[in-house]
Amino acid sequence: MQAFGGNVFNEIYDYIVIGSGSAGGVIAARLSEDATRTVLCLEAGTENERYIWTRSPLGGAFMIHNPKVNWNDFSQPNESHGNRSIHVPHGKILGGSSAINATVVNRGQKADYNSWAQMGCRGWSYDDVLPYFKKLESTSIGSDDQRGRSGPIDVTYSSKLSPFYDLFIESAKAAGIPYNPDYLGVRQHGVAMAQIAARRGRRKSTATEYLAPARGRRNLTIVGGAHVMSLLLEGKTCVGVRVQRKGQLYDVRARREVIVSCGAINSPKLLELSGIGNAGILGKFGIEAVHNLPGVGENLRDHYGPIIKWSLTKPGISICDQGRGWKFARELLRYVIFGTGFMAQGLATMRVFARSRDGVEDSDIQMMANPFLVEVKGGTGISGTEGTRSMSPLNGFYMSTQVQRPESAGTVHIQSADPIKPPAINYRFLATENDRRVAIASVKLARKVVSMPPLGDYVDKEIFPGPQVETDEQILEFIRTTGSTTYHPVGTCKMGPDPMAVVDERLRVHGIAGLRVADTSIMPTIVSGNTSIPAMMIGEKAADMIIADA
Ligand SMILES: Cc1cc2nc3c(=O)[nH]c(=O)nc-3n(C[C@H](O)[C@H](O)[C@H](O)COP(=O)(O)OP(=O)(O)OC[C@H]3O[C@@H](n4cnc5c(N)ncnc54)[C@H](O)[C@@H]3O)c2cc1C
Repeated sequence: MQAFGGNVFNEIYDYIVIGSGSAGGVIAARLSEDATRTVLCLEAGTENERYIWTRSPLGGAFMIHNPKVNWNDFSQPNESHGNRSIHVPHGKILGGSSAINATVVNRGQKADYNSWAQMGCRGWSYDDVLPYFKKLESTSIGSDDQRGRSGPIDVTYSSKLSPFYDLFIESAKAAGIPYNPDYLGVRQHGVAMAQIAARRGRRKSTATEYLAPARGRRNLTIVGGAHVMSLLLEGKTCVGVRVQRKGQLYDVRARREVIVSCGAINSPKLLELSGIGNAGILGKFGIEAVHNLPGVGENLRDHYGPIIKWSLTKPGISICDQGRGWKFARELLRYVIFGTGFMAQGLATMRVFARSRDGVEDSDIQMMANPFLVEVKGGTGISGTEGTRSMSPLNGFYMSTQVQRPESAGTVHIQSADPIKPPAINYRFLATENDRRVAIASVKLARKVVSMPPLGDYVDKEIFPGPQVETDEQILEFIRTTGSTTYHPVGTCKMGPDPMAVVDERLRVHGIAGLRVADTSIMPTIVSGNTSIPAMMIGEKAADMIIADA
């Protein structure tokens, strides 16, 4: 059935997948590989998998505030991070956040997954999930035992566009951080060029690599502009969804299962709107609790940290000129003709995985460096993630740092029974002593790397926050009042056997039949790294479990 005009829905499908993002896109594509299974994939955002800015890895910069492709939420102000609202972009388009993100490829560390297994999530140790990480990628990087060679998502290195990258690597080495070209291999610790989900300048999202090739299947229906308002429950069994499309409401039924893959912000929201969640919270909005599940919307984790900026003494190290004027026009042309240059690389080109102190098993800090500066107009102009961004003419570079395994946990809950209203997102960054210690250590480490030769020989000065921010108290205040997330919300429908868990180790919602959640919300703790590839892994594993359980 085609997805245009009027009622595009059949009355019933075997499986309904809600959300076409990093996880949902994979699940819909995998389930529909067998022509005997009918699959409906519902996406609230546009179904145009070739939306212009999604093509280039750098396009993420142009979509970060665009409500056409992004839910563009904001958190509640909270004292723990300077009483500021934090921007929470997440994809609202075919491919979800994999279509608008910075394309950085990461898995986290072995220990992340092994600790999930230790918490009671059987089947999620690193040895269990490695086959799925390999299945989803195709790369020539690293060794055969660790990396995938023939999966849908191409993984390549971000390219070196100036001497900055080698200078930075040498300075990181001088600061005691080893060069580790494959941070997805056996060990993450080290400095390297970012690996990105792109080839020849083309972003590889679940929209382009999983759903586009599957679109022709008669048993797969992909519908964009389809906002699921609630789940249809008969007693404690999920039997379908209520979906709004072009102002009309439709009830569509699932013969076997409904899979919620709306991401860590919208999955708990949808469960709560459907009467699955903390009965006390639901009651405030007149929603009857079909199933009292207190963990829904709790345990929100994300990566948080500040941006630090430096100016340079020598031209030619920063690439700030490539994003402005005629050189930008040249870069555009180069991109269109050869698929190379500034537009072809990701937004976050250098990665550093480091330890906040001796004795930490593997990196608890991630840092990123880019050889240019960004100007922000509007917003607070402080964190670099609000307002309109453009390339600064200043000859300089910046780094961002983040706490990789934050203990501080927040919440996502509905603030209205109206499905169109965004949920209340409450982060509590820096709420624990260890998070504060690691955050302070990360700023000191970034400064140490930059002070080292050879890069240090070309540094003019730190222009933000500046050398006057010196003591631990001053650094913490700087982080608290200017930090931002790296857009990795997870954990709000966590997996496990404990009373606060929302899904079991096969991602089935506790207490409700016919319903699974499969996306970053199921992570019991945040992985030590970027979250898109882990979400795709969750999608691959979920699809296998759904097929096996049928
Ligand atoms: C700006 C940005 C930059 C990032 N950079 C990186 C990076 O470089 N590397 C990395 O690894 N990670 C990055 N991330 C994070 C990563 O992309 C996400 O963690 C990951 O894609 C989340 O996958 P998901 O499947 O959980 O959710 P999503 O991919 O967000 O998918 C959820 C989908 O569900 C749809 N949906 C939601 N509610 C409904 C509803 N009610 N009805 C129908 N559809 C609905 C959404 O529109 C969306 O398409 C970034 C994220 C952002 C926003």
